[in-house]
Amino acid sequence: MKFCVLASGSRGNAVWVEEGGLAVLLDCGLSFNEFKKRAELAGLDPRKLGCVLVSHEHRDHISGLGPLARALKIPILANQGTREGAGFQVGKVQWQLFRTGDQLDFGPLKIRTLPISHDARDPVAFLVESSAGRLGLATDLGAPTELIRQSYRGLRALVLEFNHDYEKLMSGPYPWPLKQRVRSRTGHLANDMAAQLAAGLYHRDLAHLILAHLSETNNLPELALEAARRALNDALEPVAANQWRPTAVFEM
Ligand SMILES: [Zn+2]
Ligand SMILES: [Zn+2]
Repeated sequence: MKFCVLASGSRGNAVWVEEGGLAVLLDCGLSFNEFKKRAELAGLDPRKLGCVLVSHEHRDHISGLGPLARALKIPILANQGTREGAGFQVGKVQWQLFRTGDQLDFGPLKIRTLPISHDARDPVAFLVESSAGRLGLATDLGAPTELIRQSYRGLRALVLEFNHDYEKLMSGPYPWPLKQRVRSRTGHLANDMAAQLAAGLYHRDLAHLILAHLSETNNLPELALEAARRALNDALEPVAANQWRPTAVFEM
């Protein structure tokens, strides 16, 4: 299995996952042009895409969905809540509905959808599995839940939200109600919470830890990386994804 975080952050999110010539995209908060540019930069072939899965209807996860699905003639998979929340912004596309908790099969890839506590209609995290191992993807997590801890045991790779540095958020420019929203159980994970969660999931075969959805206002890559390194005792070298460029293509 290989994967690449094409974009991550509050301006747009998209993750490419591929196995055996078949690829799926998890969220599409990029314009179609930007998506094509980044796929090419990363050496990924859009013709391999079979569908897009959507985690929730916030704009940074869906803004490019419609144009991408229409241009590549592929379906969009979402649960009913996300479809209702996203519908009119996406336009005419082919929807396929799943229920949160379902496991979806795409050839060699099996994708489980896990409920999370973020402030959208029915947001999900993903667990992607193939013969190569398990990849967990949780951005916009809100809070680390027991379900996530249990489901994400034995991962080979983890893409996890490191949204904000708590001190930077609290002393930063956001108005008070927005600060409250971000740090609540239905908001976003702070660096130290994410680092604790990652440390709890660490085992010898966890090869890749990608720090995702970093706030441009309330975080710095160095702060997120430092929190992860500290919590993991330098057991592996984390990588910070960003808004402007795709990460490397990770193989597992
Ligand atoms: Zn988001
Ligand atoms: Zn969100």
